[in-house]
Amino acid sequence: MKFPQGLLKGIISGIVLAGILLTVRLSAEETVLEKVEKDKSQEPPQVALTFDDGPHSVYTPILLDGLKERGIKATFFLMGKNIQGKEDIVKRMAEEGHLIGNHTYSHVQLSRLPMEKAREEVEKTNEEIYEITGEYPVYLRPPYGDWKKDMEKSLEMLPIFWDIDPLDWGRGDTAGIVSSIEGKIEDGSIILLHDCYDSSVKAALQVADDLTKAGYELVTADKLIVD
Ligand SMILES: [Zn+2]
Repeated sequence: MKFPQGLLKGIISGIVLAGILLTVRLSAEETVLEKVEKDKSQEPPQVALTFDDGPHSVYTPILLDGLKERGIKATFFLMGKNIQGKEDIVKRMAEEGHLIGNHTYSHVQLSRLPMEKAREEVEKTNEEIYEITGEYPVYLRPPYGDWKKDMEKSLEMLPIFWDIDPLDWGRGDTAGIVSSIEGKIEDGSIILLHDCYDSSVKAALQVADDLTKAGYELVTADKLIVD
């Protein structure tokens, strides 16, 4: 007996449709939105967007515009050598309420340097920032996360690390960066990004919108570190 073509097609598209619906339902259940709704009675969960390696003359202002539009404060760990010629951008960060931290002068691995040289990397950057904002940074993001406990005393800075690293610098795909962040997000998360790529800035703003919608509060990173 020949199976009627129309019926076969109908069955196949029915199966496909059921598959799609199931997939949609499953992924909807996993969105950040659902996750937070369960904790509505408690304090809103807080997360911090942090940006390393800037300022960048093109992408940092775009990011600042986006953050301003949304009323969000972020954290910028600046490289001293990137500041010259971009003083206005640094000034704007401070004026718009963002937290400015130190990311060394030339992106060095601090523990590999003699202490005197390591201090120079940190102090030169602090001076550059102080000259623009009138405030010395208190926090430092050690490049590569390379940090030893005794550096808090010898460098007189407090380190801020991260728990979510979407490896945005090598990817270029905004959607991939967004899902890599949102898949790991939890109360207290510190997200590491770089404000020197178009895809990173787009991803940051997308994440900001998604998390805000889901009930998260976006704060500067100093609010999330425990002494
Ligand atoms: Zn860096």
